[in-house]
Amino acid sequence: MQFFKRLEVSLRRFRNRLTSYFYWGDERFCPCCQRGFSKFLPAGTGKRHRVDAVCPFCRSRERDRLLVLLLDSRPELFHQALDLLHFAPEPSIQMYLATKEMASYATTDLMRTDVTFRTDIQSIDLKNESYESVICAHVLQDVPNEAMALSEVHRILRQGGWAIFSVPLRGAETVEYGRAEIVRAAWDGRPHEFLRQYGLDFVERLQAARYDVEVIGAKDLLQSSDEVVRYGLGNDVFTNVIFFCRKQT
Ligand SMILES: [Zn+2]
Repeated sequence: MQFFKRLEVSLRRFRNRLTSYFYWGDERFCPCCQRGFSKFLPAGTGKRHRVDAVCPFCRSRERDRLLVLLLDSRPELFHQALDLLHFAPEPSIQMYLATKEMASYATTDLMRTDVTFRTDIQSIDLKNESYESVICAHVLQDVPNEAMALSEVHRILRQGGWAIFSVPLRGAETVEYGRAEIVRAAWDGRPHEFLRQYGLDFVERLQAARYDVEVIGAKDLLQSSDEVVRYGLGNDVFTNVIFFCRKQT
Protein backbone atom coordinates (compact mmCIF):
# COMPACT_ATOMS: atom_id res chain seq x y z
CA MET A 1 0.00 0.00 0.00
CA GLN A 2 2.87 2.35 0.83
CA PHE A 3 4.25 1.80 -2.69
CA PHE A 4 0.95 2.82 -4.29
CA LYS A 5 0.66 5.85 -1.99
CA ARG A 6 4.15 7.02 -2.99
CA LEU A 7 3.32 6.39 -6.65
CA GLU A 8 0.11 8.42 -6.35
CA VAL A 9 1.98 11.32 -4.71
CA SER A 10 4.66 11.25 -7.44
CA LEU A 11 2.07 11.19 -10.21
CA ARG A 12 0.19 14.08 -8.60
CA ARG A 13 3.38 16.16 -8.36
CA PHE A 14 4.15 15.45 -12.02
CA ARG A 15 0.59 16.47 -13.00
CA ASN A 16 0.84 19.69 -10.98
CA ARG A 17 4.17 20.66 -12.56
CA LEU A 18 2.79 19.94 -16.03
CA THR A 19 -0.45 21.86 -15.38
CA SER A 20 1.37 24.89 -13.97
CA TYR A 21 3.44 25.04 -17.19
CA PHE A 22 0.25 25.56 -19.22
CA TYR A 23 -0.82 28.39 -16.89
CA TRP A 24 2.45 30.30 -17.12
CA GLY A 25 2.02 34.01 -16.38
CA ASP A 26 1.86 36.60 -13.62
CA GLU A 27 -1.73 37.81 -13.70
CA ARG A 28 -2.39 35.62 -10.65
CA PHE A 29 -0.14 34.87 -7.68
CA CYS A 30 -0.28 32.07 -5.13
CA PRO A 31 1.23 33.02 -1.75
CA CYS A 32 1.42 29.36 -0.70
CA CYS A 33 3.87 28.21 -3.38
CA GLN A 34 5.06 31.73 -4.29
CA ARG A 35 4.39 31.23 -8.02
CA GLY A 36 2.65 33.30 -10.67
CA PHE A 37 0.11 32.06 -13.23
CA SER A 38 -2.13 33.34 -16.01
CA LYS A 39 -5.16 32.19 -13.99
CA PHE A 40 -6.22 29.71 -11.33
CA LEU A 41 -8.14 26.53 -12.11
CA PRO A 42 -11.92 26.31 -11.68
CA ALA A 43 -13.43 24.17 -8.93
CA GLY A 44 -16.76 22.81 -7.76
CA THR A 45 -19.84 21.80 -9.69
CA GLY A 46 -23.36 23.14 -10.10
CA LYS A 47 -24.16 26.01 -7.76
CA ARG A 48 -20.76 25.60 -6.14
CA HIS A 49 -18.80 26.06 -9.40
CA ARG A 50 -16.08 28.68 -9.00
CA VAL A 51 -13.66 30.20 -11.46
CA ASP A 52 -10.15 31.26 -10.44
CA ALA A 53 -10.18 28.91 -7.45
CA VAL A 54 -7.34 26.36 -7.38
CA CYS A 55 -3.60 26.96 -7.78
CA PRO A 56 -2.31 24.92 -10.75
CA PHE A 57 0.89 24.04 -8.88
CA CYS A 58 0.20 23.53 -5.14
CA ARG A 59 -3.59 23.11 -5.46
CA SER A 60 -4.29 25.78 -2.83
CA ARG A 61 -7.88 26.95 -2.69
CA GLU A 62 -9.16 30.42 -1.80
CA ARG A 63 -9.28 29.68 1.91
CA ASP A 64 -5.71 28.32 1.93
CA ARG A 65 -4.36 31.45 0.24
CA LEU A 66 -6.33 33.71 2.58
CA LEU A 67 -4.91 31.90 5.61
CA VAL A 68 -1.36 32.18 4.29
CA LEU A 69 -1.85 35.88 3.54
CA LEU A 70 -2.93 36.36 7.15
CA LEU A 71 0.13 34.53 8.48
CA ASP A 72 2.34 36.51 6.10
CA SER A 73 0.88 39.77 7.39
CA ARG A 74 1.84 38.87 10.97
CA PRO A 75 5.52 37.85 11.00
CA GLU A 76 5.54 38.34 14.78
CA LEU A 77 3.57 35.09 15.11
CA PHE A 78 6.65 33.10 14.10
CA HIS A 79 9.72 32.83 16.29
CA GLN A 80 12.37 30.30 17.22
CA ALA A 81 10.42 28.93 20.20
CA LEU A 82 7.06 28.57 18.44
CA ASP A 83 5.37 25.19 18.41
CA LEU A 84 2.45 24.71 16.07
CA LEU A 85 -0.15 21.96 15.79
CA HIS A 86 -1.93 21.73 12.43
CA PHE A 87 -5.20 19.78 12.19
CA ALA A 88 -6.08 18.12 8.87
CA PRO A 89 -3.03 19.75 7.26
CA GLU A 90 -3.40 21.25 3.80
CA PRO A 91 -0.28 20.55 1.64
CA SER A 92 -0.34 24.08 0.22
CA ILE A 93 -0.27 25.64 3.70
CA GLN A 94 2.44 23.20 4.75
CA MET A 95 4.49 24.37 1.77
CA TYR A 96 4.33 27.91 3.18
CA LEU A 97 4.97 26.84 6.80
CA ALA A 98 8.10 24.96 5.69
CA THR A 99 9.66 28.36 4.98
CA LYS A 100 9.05 29.63 8.53
CA GLU A 101 11.31 29.34 11.52
CA MET A 102 9.80 27.60 14.55
CA ALA A 103 10.76 25.11 17.25
CA SER A 104 8.36 22.36 16.30
CA TYR A 105 5.59 21.63 13.88
CA ALA A 106 3.21 18.69 14.21
CA THR A 107 0.23 17.57 12.17
CA THR A 108 -2.76 15.57 13.28
CA ASP A 109 -5.98 14.10 11.95
CA LEU A 110 -8.63 11.61 13.00
CA MET A 111 -8.31 9.33 9.97
CA ARG A 112 -5.30 10.25 7.85
CA THR A 113 -2.04 8.36 8.14
CA ASP A 114 0.22 11.06 6.63
CA VAL A 115 0.30 13.04 9.90
CA THR A 116 2.57 13.21 12.95
CA PHE A 117 -0.06 11.55 15.14
CA ARG A 118 -3.75 10.71 14.98
CA THR A 119 -6.21 12.10 17.48
CA ASP A 120 -9.85 13.06 17.85
CA ILE A 121 -10.23 16.83 18.19
CA GLN A 122 -13.09 16.18 20.65
CA SER A 123 -10.67 14.37 22.97
CA ILE A 124 -7.12 15.45 22.12
CA ASP A 125 -4.46 13.09 23.40
CA LEU A 126 -2.20 15.86 24.73
CA LYS A 127 -1.46 17.47 28.08
CA ASN A 128 -2.85 20.89 29.00
CA GLU A 129 -1.01 23.83 27.41
CA SER A 130 1.04 21.67 25.06
CA TYR A 131 1.13 24.14 22.16
CA GLU A 132 1.45 27.86 21.56
CA SER A 133 -0.50 27.75 18.32
CA VAL A 134 -3.06 25.74 16.37
CA ILE A 135 -4.35 25.83 12.81
CA CYS A 136 -7.71 24.16 12.25
CA ALA A 137 -9.31 24.94 8.89
CA HIS A 138 -12.53 23.38 7.57
CA VAL A 139 -12.63 20.63 10.19
CA LEU A 140 -15.37 21.63 12.63
CA GLN A 141 -18.26 21.22 10.18
CA ASP A 142 -17.65 17.45 10.34
CA VAL A 143 -17.21 17.20 14.13
CA PRO A 144 -20.26 15.98 16.10
CA ASN A 145 -19.46 17.81 19.35
CA GLU A 146 -18.16 21.19 18.22
CA ALA A 147 -18.23 22.69 21.73
CA MET A 148 -16.02 19.88 23.01
CA ALA A 149 -13.59 20.37 20.11
CA LEU A 150 -13.28 24.11 20.81
CA SER A 151 -12.81 23.37 24.50
CA GLU A 152 -10.11 20.80 23.78
CA VAL A 153 -8.14 23.17 21.53
CA HIS A 154 -8.45 25.81 24.26
CA ARG A 155 -7.14 23.29 26.82
CA ILE A 156 -4.00 22.38 24.86
CA LEU A 157 -3.15 26.01 24.06
CA ARG A 158 -0.78 27.86 26.35
CA GLN A 159 -1.80 31.17 27.92
CA GLY A 160 -1.54 33.88 25.26
CA GLY A 161 -1.46 31.28 22.53
CA TRP A 162 -3.30 31.65 19.24
CA ALA A 163 -5.53 29.48 17.10
CA ILE A 164 -6.77 30.01 13.58
CA PHE A 165 -10.13 28.51 12.72
CA SER A 166 -12.01 28.61 9.46
CA VAL A 167 -15.28 26.95 8.53
CA PRO A 168 -17.36 26.90 5.34
CA LEU A 169 -19.71 29.86 5.77
CA ARG A 170 -23.11 30.49 4.26
CA GLY A 171 -25.15 33.42 5.51
CA ALA A 172 -25.58 34.81 8.99
CA GLU A 173 -26.80 31.96 11.16
CA THR A 174 -25.49 28.46 11.76
CA VAL A 175 -27.90 25.65 10.93
CA GLU A 176 -27.46 22.29 12.66
CA TYR A 177 -28.47 19.46 10.31
CA GLY A 178 -28.73 16.82 13.02
CA ARG A 179 -27.05 14.33 10.68
CA ALA A 180 -24.30 14.38 8.06
CA GLU A 181 -25.14 15.86 4.67
CA ILE A 182 -22.51 13.66 3.01
CA VAL A 183 -22.50 10.08 4.30
CA ARG A 184 -19.51 7.89 3.40
CA ALA A 185 -19.73 4.18 2.69
CA ALA A 186 -18.50 1.83 5.43
CA TRP A 187 -15.37 0.95 3.42
CA ASP A 188 -14.48 4.64 2.89
CA GLY A 189 -11.79 5.79 5.31
CA ARG A 190 -13.06 9.36 5.38
CA PRO A 191 -15.53 10.67 7.98
CA HIS A 192 -19.06 11.76 7.16
CA GLU A 193 -19.17 15.44 6.23
CA PHE A 194 -21.22 18.55 6.94
CA LEU A 195 -23.10 18.09 10.18
CA ARG A 196 -23.96 21.76 10.15
CA GLN A 197 -23.94 24.80 7.87
CA TYR A 198 -22.02 27.59 9.50
CA GLY A 199 -22.99 31.22 9.53
CA LEU A 200 -21.14 34.32 10.68
CA ASP A 201 -22.52 33.68 14.18
CA PHE A 202 -19.66 31.17 14.50
CA VAL A 203 -17.83 34.05 16.15
CA GLU A 204 -20.24 33.83 19.08
CA ARG A 205 -19.51 30.12 19.50
CA LEU A 206 -15.80 30.91 19.65
CA GLN A 207 -16.35 33.64 22.21
CA ALA A 208 -18.49 31.27 24.29
CA ALA A 209 -15.53 28.87 24.23
CA ARG A 210 -13.36 31.60 25.81
CA TYR A 211 -11.45 32.93 22.82
CA ASP A 212 -10.83 36.55 21.90
CA VAL A 213 -11.74 36.63 18.21
CA GLU A 214 -10.79 38.72 15.18
CA VAL A 215 -12.76 38.11 11.98
CA ILE A 216 -10.46 38.67 9.01
CA GLY A 217 -11.32 38.68 5.32
CA ALA A 218 -9.46 39.36 2.08
CA LYS A 219 -10.33 43.06 2.22
CA ASP A 220 -8.56 43.34 5.57
CA LEU A 221 -5.34 41.92 4.14
CA LEU A 222 -5.19 43.36 0.64
CA GLN A 223 -5.04 46.95 -0.60
CA SER A 224 -7.36 46.85 -3.61
CA SER A 225 -9.94 44.79 -5.50
CA ASP A 226 -7.25 44.15 -8.13
CA GLU A 227 -5.17 42.40 -5.47
CA VAL A 228 -8.20 40.37 -4.38
CA VAL A 229 -8.47 39.13 -7.97
CA ARG A 230 -4.71 38.57 -8.34
CA TYR A 231 -4.64 36.28 -5.30
CA GLY A 232 -7.73 34.46 -6.51
CA LEU A 233 -9.87 35.54 -3.56
CA GLY A 234 -12.78 36.98 -5.53
CA ASN A 235 -15.07 34.01 -4.87
CA ASP A 236 -17.25 34.39 -1.78
CA VAL A 237 -15.34 37.49 -0.70
CA PHE A 238 -17.94 38.19 1.96
CA THR A 239 -18.06 34.73 3.50
CA ASN A 240 -14.46 33.61 2.96
CA VAL A 241 -13.13 34.76 6.32
CA ILE A 242 -10.78 33.52 8.99
CA PHE A 243 -11.28 33.58 12.73
CA PHE A 244 -8.03 34.51 14.47
CA CYS A 245 -8.32 33.61 18.15
CA ARG A 246 -6.33 34.24 21.30
CA LYS A 247 -6.83 32.10 24.36
CA GLN A 248 -8.54 34.13 27.05
CA THR A 249 -6.95 33.93 30.46
ZN1 LIG B 1 0.25 27.56 -5.21
